[in-house]
Amino acid sequence: MNLYHSTRSRAISRTSKEAIREGLAPDGGLYVCDALGSERVEVADLAEQSYHDIARAVLQLLLPDYTADEIAACVREAYDGTFASPEVTPLLTLGTVPNVMTKGTGVTGDGATSVLELFHGPTSAFKDVALQMLPRLMARANAGAVPASGSDAASPAERVMIVTATSGDTGKAALAGFADAPGCGITVFYPEGKVSRVQELQMTTQAGGNVNVCAVRGNFDDAQSAVKRIFADRALAERLSNAGWTLSSANSINVGRLVPQVVYYFAAYAQLLRAGTIKAGDEVEFCVPTGNFGDVLAGYYAKLLGLPVAKLIVASDTNNVLFDFLTTGVYDRNRPFFTTTSPSMDILISSNLERMLYYLSGGDCELVASLMQSLAETGRYEVPKDLLARIQEVFACAWASEEEVAAAIHACWESHGYLMDPHTACGYHALEQVAPAPGSRARVLLSTASPYKFPRAVAEAIGLDVSEDDFACMDVLAAATGTTPPAQLASLQEAPVLHNDVVDIDGMAGFVEQATLKL
Ligand SMILES: *Cc1c(COP(=O)(O)O)cnc(C)c1O
Repeated sequence: MNLYHSTRSRAISRTSKEAIREGLAPDGGLYVCDALGSERVEVADLAEQSYHDIARAVLQLLLPDYTADEIAACVREAYDGTFASPEVTPLLTLGTVPNVMTKGTGVTGDGATSVLELFHGPTSAFKDVALQMLPRLMARANAGAVPASGSDAASPAERVMIVTATSGDTGKAALAGFADAPGCGITVFYPEGKVSRVQELQMTTQAGGNVNVCAVRGNFDDAQSAVKRIFADRALAERLSNAGWTLSSANSINVGRLVPQVVYYFAAYAQLLRAGTIKAGDEVEFCVPTGNFGDVLAGYYAKLLGLPVAKLIVASDTNNVLFDFLTTGVYDRNRPFFTTTSPSMDILISSNLERMLYYLSGGDCELVASLMQSLAETGRYEVPKDLLARIQEVFACAWASEEEVAAAIHACWESHGYLMDPHTACGYHALEQVAPAPGSRARVLLSTASPYKFPRAVAEAIGLDVSEDDFACMDVLAAATGTTPPAQLASLQEAPVLHNDVVDIDGMAGFVEQATLKL
């Protein structure tokens, strides 16, 4: 049986359903599965497969205790009619992105660059791909946790309160996934003043009887750390349990968030095969705008499952803690925090790095536990040289300053007629900076948000006159580029604001308790 255990110890094991219900392991570690990669996805067959086919195959490998019927139902519910593209995550060819490393050397080899658009879901950010799926997985995990006839009033199933800290996009995508989900509540904390106007309105206008949204005085890292403490609070857990509730997470620390993201790496490859850009077995590079390291980690999982990945390029914004780590082996969060035009990447503690350290250290729980203890105590750790070397074989990196983000949006619009959001632009800049991996036949840039989520930054970058109001910026952008804002963003202007709570970091646990007990 492919069981999950914590990155920090093998003392306890869980089925994937249990791991999804629980979110975070009791010792603060993240759930991992040692069988990852022992069975592989057949790459030669990908060209004939739909997104749904690939999703079923990948999910079954990683979540083996779900039945085939359960997985098929989850895939249907998550992706039938919820995404604005029949491909779910459509791939489009951009052309050649000039590279500073190969300039004038005569080396090309970089093939064509394509963009994998991950933002056609209900909230216009890539997190929809996972957060349309997670509630469905959670519902089946809960069903398995009670006796077959357990829905009678005498033995009610424990209800799950999802608690999530967001740097901007997770919050709305989680709200859209969990609003009015049976047996669930959802509480979202976002850093006050550190998300875009559109992102904030997306959250504060969310309807639903089980929905709580609250601003926090602090940044995302503070809020994320507080949420981890809330999960570790035994006394709180007991009080909630007495009332029939258990807490869980919709952040990418939950394996149920991570696994659906593995799918689109294979779906991208399938589309490259169908377009004739590559042949089965050819290696491909993926460039991933990165914050909490969930998206790019899913790419590494895809590689372990047999996808021919030449390199995963980690793109950061001015908060370039990952760039420093991946180049020196020293992770040090003791540095200024910058609020940028790419708020979903404004993160100094990338939680999912822990899973990468686990796998690339060959499953060394003691090492991971000691590194994470050092991070908690000093804000810093350094990995052994041999581990750094193994990490660098898989991951390349680059980061973009605010000026470089704007320049990338401008350059991409000018040379390819393609409009990018600021997160995706960090990735475009990284493709300009990092030399193509030898042997790679194609480069794929993951586009993580619609440019209309950040209309002011995008309009400014392409040289348009922008006004005070983000919705006016949308109109200016649409008129100047001939593109159309997603309806769910344009209509936010008229939606009533339903949530206006603000708490300090110390007030978050109390907010969760109250919000849960009032449901
Ligand atoms: C969340 C997010 C990212 C970062 O993804 P991680 O999985 O946290 O690394 C990048 N871009 C956008 C638009 C996002 O919402």
